[in-house]
Amino acid sequence: MNYNYRYRLKPTERQRETLDYHRDTCRQLYNHALYRFNQIPEHEGTVKQRVRKIRDELPDLKDWWDALTDVYSKVLQPTVMRIAKNITALGKLKEQGYTVGELRWKSPREFRSFTYNQSGFELDKKGGQTVLSLSKLADIPIEHHRSLPDDATVKEVTLKQEKTGEWFAIFGIEMDTDPPAKPPLEDVGTDEMVGIDVGILKYAHDTDGTAVESLDLSEERDRLEREQRNLSRKEYESNNWENQRRRVAACHQKIKRKRRDFLHKLSNYYAREYELVAVEDLEVKGMLESPRNSRNTASAAWNTFSDMLETKCEREGTYFAEVGPEGTTKECAQCGVETDKPLWVREHSCPACGFKADRDANAAWNILSRGLTKLGVGYSEGTPVETALPADTAVVSAKHVVETGSPCLKEPPKAVSRQG
Ligand SMILES: [Zn+2]
Repeated sequence: MNYNYRYRLKPTERQRETLDYHRDTCRQLYNHALYRFNQIPEHEGTVKQRVRKIRDELPDLKDWWDALTDVYSKVLQPTVMRIAKNITALGKLKEQGYTVGELRWKSPREFRSFTYNQSGFELDKKGGQTVLSLSKLADIPIEHHRSLPDDATVKEVTLKQEKTGEWFAIFGIEMDTDPPAKPPLEDVGTDEMVGIDVGILKYAHDTDGTAVESLDLSEERDRLEREQRNLSRKEYESNNWENQRRRVAACHQKIKRKRRDFLHKLSNYYAREYELVAVEDLEVKGMLESPRNSRNTASAAWNTFSDMLETKCEREGTYFAEVGPEGTTKECAQCGVETDKPLWVREHSCPACGFKADRDANAAWNILSRGLTKLGVGYSEGTPVETALPADTAVVSAKHVVETGSPCLKEPPKAVSRQG
C-alpha cells in the first residue's frame, strides 16, 4: 500500500533560492527531454523505452551542462521519466474522449515540483528543530506535525512550491504490513453494507437513511471573487500584482483544503463504519449529469471522493464497488421498472409496485444492488431493499461532518482521524 504524507517546509530566504534553482534546472531538463523525445521516431520503442533512452543520456549531458551537476542524480532521473508519465496520462484522456494536444514545454509557473527518488533525503534533528536533509541542496526546517508510521518505507520525497509561494515536502511511503483481511462476502450482513448516491444539491444520500448536505463554501468564494477583482486592477506582473496573485492563490488553497478535509472525513467514515461500500463511477456520472458551468468543479470533487473512498476501503479491509451510473434514478429499487423523473421530482413512487422512497434513497439502493451484483453476491432473498427497508432520512450538514468526522447523529462518532 502506498500513501502520501505532506509537510510544510520552512526554508530560509537562501534555501528558498536554492530550491528555486534546483526546480528551474529540473524544468529546463524536462523541456530538453521533451525536445529529445520528439526527435526519437516512434518505431524505436514504447514511450517508456524511448524516455529511458533519454534518461541514459544524462551522464553525457552533464559534460556540457554544468547546472546539472549541481542537482542530485536521483532527482534528474525522475524528472526525465515524468515525460513518460505525462504522455501516458494524455493518452488516457484521449481515450476518454477529451480533446488533447501535444505535451508542451513547461514555463516556470507550470513547473512546481521535483522529486528525490529512493535516496538523497533524510529526516534529521538540528538544534532542536526537525530538518529535511536533501543531498546537494540543504537541511531545510520542516513542520513535522505527525510522524510517519513505524513500518513505513519512504520511496520518494517530492518538493513542491504551491502557488501561494509556500514549499511542501510530500513523502511517498509504502507500508510493509498488509491491510486487514476482508471478511468473506457471504458474512457481510445488510446492516454492514451501504450504497451511496452522490449529488450536487445533497452531497451524499445513503441506504442507511443518512443524507449529507453539500459543503458551504460561499464565504470563501465571495472572498476569492473580491481578491480576483483586486488582482484585475493591478498592473500586470508588477510587484503589487504579484502580491495580489499570491492572495488569490491562498484563497484557492483554502477552498481546496476545506473541501479535502470534508471529503477525507466523509470517506473515512464510510470505509470504517461499513464492510461493503458501493458508489457510482463518479467520473462517468460527472460527464452525464453535472451542469455545464459547474462540471469541472463538481466532477473533480467527485473523483477525489471516490479515489479517497477506494484507498480508505482498501486500508480498512472494506469491500469497494464502483458501478455504472446510468439510470440509477429512474429504476425502481424494488421491482426494477423504469420511470422518467425530471430533476425537480424529489420522490420516487413506482407505478408498477407502489414502492415509495426519497428519489436519492431509491438511487442509493440501486447503487447498492448493482454493487452486490458486481462483487458477485447472490441475493437469495431478493433485492436488499426487500430485506432492509429504508429508514427515515436524517439530513446532516457538511459542517457537522467536518466538526465531528462523522454524519452520525445518534451515537457518538467513532474516533475518526484525518489521514492520507
Ligand atoms: Zn417498483
